[in-house]
Amino acid sequence: MDYYSSQISKLIEELSALPGIGAKTAQRLSFHILNMPTEQVEGLANALLDARHNVKYCKECFTLTDADLCPICKNKARDHHTIMVVETPRDLTAYEKTGKYEGVYHVLHGAISPMLGIGPNEIKLKELMERLGREDVQEVIIATNSSLEGETTAMYISKLIKPTGIKVSRIASGVPVGGDLEYIDEVTLLRALEGRTEL
Ligand code: ZN
Repeated sequence: MDYYSSQISKLIEELSALPGIGAKTAQRLSFHILNMPTEQVEGLANALLDARHNVKYCKECFTLTDADLCPICKNKARDHHTIMVVETPRDLTAYEKTGKYEGVYHVLHGAISPMLGIGPNEIKLKELMERLGREDVQEVIIATNSSLEGETTAMYISKLIKPTGIKVSRIASGVPVGGDLEYIDEVTLLRALEGRTEL
């Protein structure tokens, strides 16, 4: 049943395909957009397209950036001997917001999940190991989520790194089980980082 013209329906459909946007919200957003000045809609559409076309992986840490190296990897003042391994760029942002972590990152873009058929080759793990072989790294802090997938990934990574002699640690489990890092407040994140244990 099509209450609206097909173009409005198309807009609602596209918006409701986004995570966290239900049919009602998609409808509300659609009407909001249709009432916005044309220039503002163009600004939004261009921002979406520019980001999609220009954003790529940092060639060092694999977070999303629009340059070859992200601002963190480029920053000489950061401690490049300490790498924190996170699942997503959102987790990186969560730790950056604490303003207390001085090292650099490595973004896996996922976690190992036998249930979903995601193996070690589906995440940026080979890239991490190559990086460890190339750079002078003293500690790898594994900050994957405390979900089953996050824990599986942490175990897998620590087993891979152990033989290299590089120190491997895991953030403390002050983080609720199954909790996504990005929703956890900064104090908890810092506590988890400070209370990390060597694996
Ligand atoms: Zn980077």
